[in-house]
Amino acid sequence: MEKVVIIGTGCAGLTAAIYAARSNLSPLALSGLMPGGLLTTTSTVENYPGFPEGVDGYELMTRMQKQAERFGARVKLLQSLEAADLSKRPFVLTVDGARVETQTVIIATGASHRHLGLESERLLEKKGVTYCATCDGAWPVFRNQPLVVVGGGDSACEEALYLTRFASVIHLVHRRDTLRASKIMAQRALNHAKIKPVWDSAVTEILDCKLDKVTGVCLKNLKTGAESLLPCAGVFVAIGHVPNTRLFKGVLDMDENGYLIPRKGAATNIPGVFIAGDCADHIYRQAVTAAGSGCAAAMDAERFLAAQGN
Ligand code: NAP
Repeated sequence: MEKVVIIGTGCAGLTAAIYAARSNLSPLALSGLMPGGLLTTTSTVENYPGFPEGVDGYELMTRMQKQAERFGARVKLLQSLEAADLSKRPFVLTVDGARVETQTVIIATGASHRHLGLESERLLEKKGVTYCATCDGAWPVFRNQPLVVVGGGDSACEEALYLTRFASVIHLVHRRDTLRASKIMAQRALNHAKIKPVWDSAVTEILDCKLDKVTGVCLKNLKTGAESLLPCAGVFVAIGHVPNTRLFKGVLDMDENGYLIPRKGAATNIPGVFIAGDCADHIYRQAVTAAGSGCAAAMDAERFLAAQGN
């Protein structure tokens, strides 16, 4: 019987693991297919307090895991969480076919990249369509080639800036004529000689499925309706995220977009189930806020267990 199982090992999950471990709860933290979470795909994290020079996202998460393990957390890689029976305590999780019983659960499942939803996007994924410049930007096919980044937020700016080291030019395709990104990121992107904004435009198709590689995008100007073709060797989609909460639909309170809704602090509508990080945050979605909410979830779980006599 586990005392605390944490689902997810991003910033929120690993911070919860540090706190729960330091409370002698020996938490079991289950990582999904992306150990360390989305931050591991970021290049330099410049806004995490304590790192004036910035810190590599992968390194930050590796350090967090080591810190959690140092205090007794067990971090396990899993292929899939097949089921979560939260109908009564102890809760029962089915993890890679195995049964795990636990008195409390902290859900820190994070969010995944949102897709454009085009059939050509699906067919050309990993063949020039990608969701992570740090992971894929250095591919030889992108070198000295025009590339497209879709989106207008911090992620899109960060992707575009990262790609300036490889591409000949980056077309930043955004559906409006102002960026959503923070001022510092927006200015950095728009001031870069290699980054060209394409305003008020949507990607309607990615070419060329017949050639099985990316050769360009079809664009539609959303103000004028004009259609055009923009040649490129790669498409980096950075249009936000969707929370990884499908497994809890109909069980835990969530909004219409699938973000989990807390009742009080990190507690949910099910006593003993707590939430942390991007799966429950559509507003801030920062590494530091995720870490803070992971801390809160672990403290709430600890108090819950204490109140139960544990
Ligand atoms: P975001 O802030 O939600 O921005 C998503 C962007 O994609 C928006 O510009 C949005 O357009 C556009 N978009 C959404 N759906 C679209 C669709 N179907 N088709 C075309 N465009 C679409 O997401 P994000 O950039 O991933 O950032 C997420 C959070 O992480 C933010 O809080 C951000 O501050 C943070 N973050 C911070 C940093 C950093 O500080 N260095 C880096 C990365 C991320 P509209 O603007 O029209 O809505």
